[in-house]
Amino acid sequence: MTERLYYHDSSLIEFDARIVRRIAAPDGRPGAILDRTAFYPTSGGQPFDTGTLGTARVLDVIEQEDGDLLHVLDAEVEADAVHGAVEWGRRLDHMQQHTGQHVLSAAFDRVLGARTESFHLGVDASTIDLGREVSADEAAAAEDEANRIVWADRPVTIRFADAAEAAGLRLRKESARGGTLRLIEVADFDLSACGGTHVARTGTIGIIAIAGIERFKSGSRVEFVCGGRALRSHRRLRDIVAGTGKLLSVAPHEIAASIERVQADAKELRRHVKDLQSRLAGHEAAALAAAALAGPAYRGSIAVLEGWDAQGLKQIAAAIASHPGHLAILMSAPPPSSIVVARSADTTFDAAAALKQMVARFGGKGGGRPELAQGGGLTGSPDDMLAFARTLAGLA
Ligand SMILES: [Zn+2]
Repeated sequence: MTERLYYHDSSLIEFDARIVRRIAAPDGRPGAILDRTAFYPTSGGQPFDTGTLGTARVLDVIEQEDGDLLHVLDAEVEADAVHGAVEWGRRLDHMQQHTGQHVLSAAFDRVLGARTESFHLGVDASTIDLGREVSADEAAAAEDEANRIVWADRPVTIRFADAAEAAGLRLRKESARGGTLRLIEVADFDLSACGGTHVARTGTIGIIAIAGIERFKSGSRVEFVCGGRALRSHRRLRDIVAGTGKLLSVAPHEIAASIERVQADAKELRRHVKDLQSRLAGHEAAALAAAALAGPAYRGSIAVLEGWDAQGLKQIAAAIASHPGHLAILMSAPPPSSIVVARSADTTFDAAAALKQMVARFGGKGGGRPELAQGGGLTGSPDDMLAFARTLAGLA
């Protein structure tokens, strides 16, 4: 079983070791098992370390069933005696998030009696799932308490205990593991069994900031960022707020009110446009009806109109058909075209049948009743559609 150097010292990142076995990783890349290692494997909700082993890069670290740790490498390492170096930036980030999680979970437990059911350390943000729902105000109280512990710079220590000893200690969460337990203690605040990497003093966490809370199962999922991630998150949000304020030409605290005004203006404009459109449709209908072609049984208005949507076409067609003895076949341009066929109540033309023939000829779809039918997606040229519609109406 690989000796885990990080068990005793999370800031140890350079070490010498021997390769005891070379085996292929599940993805086929070369892999090495060492007698001892400072590399942390993916486990307990925390991702693996990266770094170098001799001349090779460590791409992944996988915990084997027998307790050995498999280092997945980008190339074979020839020598048996190797020097390992863990990438410190990534390790420190994981230590900040992971220790921050211990402190935040303990704060939720102490302040609100909300227990942590699970923890995940993600690439951008981490989450803890709480056994009960918490409000934003409650979460803020736990966040305050957690940061009080961070700024008190409490020692974070590692100790080992067997199951019998552990049973007599007040662990925040009972461990499912048997045998010797590794316990992480945040002085006078939290004691829990954990195999991860942690900072030596809470001050190194820097800050614990809750990024969001959502309902999850019967409790809450709390997203949070610590240390360097909190700084990066602050910068990102600062840039978004500054960019949004610039677009609206207002100070950050005026953004919400400004968006409300923009939304109200847009609503008013939409109402105004709709009103103008319906008045324009009336004029368009009057012009078309006046210029209608005289057929045997009715006067027909066949036209391709630019700048109108399906709703507008329908308004114009309905206005034309409100005159006795009229038929309207209106199409929009450019293609794909909408189409509306409407006729006055006193004529017998079958609008649905005509629409069916237009769709069969020019594509698209649609349907309706004998007095009114509509469709869309026609792809004929305006001239072809006009000519065919005139034939259908007997006005060619
Ligand atoms: Zn931990």
